[in-house]
Amino acid sequence: MKAYTALLNKAIANSEGLSTSEVMALLTPPGLVAARRLWQTAHLLRLNATGKCVHLRAIIEFSNYCRQDCLYCGLRRSNNRVTRYRMTPEAIVEAAIEAHAVHKFGTFVLQSGEDPGYELKNLKWAVQEIKLATNAAITLSIGERSCGVYRALWEAGAGRFLLKFETSCGQIFRKLKPTTTLEQRLGCLGTLRSLDYQVGSGIILGLPGQDLESVANDLLLCRDEDYEMVSIGPFIPHPDTPLSSANIATNVCSTLTTIAVARLLVPYAHMPATTALGVIGQNDKWWKSKAPQLQDARSLALMAGANVLMLDVTPAKYRTSYSIYPGKAGADGDVITDSVWQAKKDLSTLGMTICPGRGDSPKQPWGRGNTDVKREDRMHVY
Ligand code: SAH
Repeated sequence: MKAYTALLNKAIANSEGLSTSEVMALLTPPGLVAARRLWQTAHLLRLNATGKCVHLRAIIEFSNYCRQDCLYCGLRRSNNRVTRYRMTPEAIVEAAIEAHAVHKFGTFVLQSGEDPGYELKNLKWAVQEIKLATNAAITLSIGERSCGVYRALWEAGAGRFLLKFETSCGQIFRKLKPTTTLEQRLGCLGTLRSLDYQVGSGIILGLPGQDLESVANDLLLCRDEDYEMVSIGPFIPHPDTPLSSANIATNVCSTLTTIAVARLLVPYAHMPATTALGVIGQNDKWWKSKAPQLQDARSLALMAGANVLMLDVTPAKYRTSYSIYPGKAGADGDVITDSVWQAKKDLSTLGMTICPGRGDSPKQPWGRGNTDVKREDRMHVY
């Protein structure tokens, strides 16, 4: 315990100096008392960096067509059991306006499979129209595209982009994402950075073949790239994929711990309490016995370093078809009014509120390019 506390203190004082083996040690607290201390430390860092409120983002999953064939994902192109849909640009804008009428979301996340089926001008139009109608920030999560496409969408007003690298281990990546490469994906992240997007990335935790060292390296990559958003979601096997019978290697506890260590390493990042965590939490008795007053494991993540909740506002008729992993469709309920109400209720149980505004990164200008401001000084400068 003493050694663990010393390591925590080192992480707070000098996360830049942490090695892979030290991050591995942070990821394995010796017992529940040490784990709680880690979660609390991450929570304090989050309060310091981003405040006590929680950013509520609205996510519209507008197409489930995908040209990639990732072995873990229900949207993979080889899965012919999924009903494919592609919302029209008008329907995407309408969905945003409808959600905005229920709650003044500061950010809309537009996510899809890697669907080449939209004309660029239509995607640009949707981004522009949503911005015009809602004044919200737009985060795109549409996979790997050319620099030209990223630039055009940035110019249309999409200021943020979410592209998880999923795993930084070349071997696992090659196996699980056979239709692309790690270099290509990291290259896209570099392009997004160079275009001045606020960049979000992250991993799937518990992928087959992933070990502690690999996760530690993932988190170190997030630190070194200093992403504005870091997302850590547990792997959930999908029945219609080659990984249908893969072991579930994660649980609520290990996910919280990984989120907390990520907070230590990337203190200013926005970090979602992921839907996938909520889903695995439904069958995880451990945390329910520890925190019986909470309904949703996502609430625990908000006390262990995470500071963002994403609400699914996709029109209900499409939800079941956006089945990246099982259990996702029903996670937020079909009616936006109800899910916003539930989120507010969960937050008030935690003594937290919804942040006003767009919820941009608290560290501007973002990214490694910013050499004028040292990491430890950022808080005082901004
Ligand atoms: N096409 C976009 C969006 C992908 S779907 C892109 O490539 O970025 C959004 C995220 O769902 C993925 O980045 C991945 O991290 C997650 N995901 C996919 N399948 C999953 C599974 N079986 N379990 C947990 N997370 C999964």
